Amino acid sequence: MTASRAARERRAAVQAGELAKVTVEIGTADALVYKIRCTRCEGRPGVPWSTYRSGEDNDFIGAMDRWTLHLSGKHPEAEAECLGFLDQAIARLQERNPRS
Ligand SMILES: [Zn+2]
Repeated sequence: MTASRAARERRAAVQAGELAKVTVEIGTADALVYKIRCTRCEGRPGVPWSTYRSGEDNDFIGAMDRWTLHLSGKHPEAEAECLGFLDQAIARLQERNPRS
């Protein structure tokens, strides 16, 4: 389990690019919880910006979509694989939160 979690972290980190710090944790019901933190931004003072949202989709897709949007919005100069899927990320986030 530990090895595969580390492998998932590495794979996600490659997609998320250099500004990301990716961790994969085991949440409730053994679900994998992806947390992607920004090495440049603070969410709250002293706390890195993170994709993690309590009670929301924090699977690979959910976290990567929020990260992709953060990256494109805050770090337009950054390069990362996930930016190739920006259109899909925006579409999926709108599907999940039609009001936002
Ligand atoms: Zn950032």
